[in-house]
Amino acid sequence: MTASNAARLPEHPRPDLYQLLDLDPSTADAAAIRAAYRRAALALHPDKSSSTSSAPPDAFMAVADAYRILSDANLRTAYDQWLAAYQASREPHFTVDLDDMVPHYAPGADEDGDDEDPSSWTHACRCGGEFSVTVEDLDQGVSVVQCSGCTLRCRIVYYTVDENA
Ligand SMILES: [Zn+2]
Repeated sequence: MTASNAARLPEHPRPDLYQLLDLDPSTADAAAIRAAYRRAALALHPDKSSSTSSAPPDAFMAVADAYRILSDANLRTAYDQWLAAYQASREPHFTVDLDDMVPHYAPGADEDGDDEDPSSWTHACRCGGEFSVTVEDLDQGVSVVQCSGCTLRCRIVYYTVDENA
């Protein structure tokens, strides 16, 4: 069997195949990948869905595709290499402290803003565009945002406050 007969990585693979299967890239072995696929497929398979609501077929296809790639040792190696390069290309160009960004308050919030937490923040980019992030983004762990007007990316650093303290 020659290399040309081997399964190929898609030209534009998804960067989240491990997340799709809820796997840790550094520890997932073949058995873990198989188990994770069964779990995800069972939850998403159209035949398993109730008649009133069916999971989008796209979600099932994405999981099946993730398993196809990650369960093949050669494909997984190729994917890991692609992913490392992809993530390197996503590295932020600079960082900005959330405290240095311009806070925005939700419409209807107290005009003083004294007791309200901002709902989003923006930071002007030298291109005239801006970086923006919302509370929801931060809650979801988003820390790198792209400028609205150019290809620059910045990492937002902030310190969470334990409100129960
Ligand atoms: Zn910009």
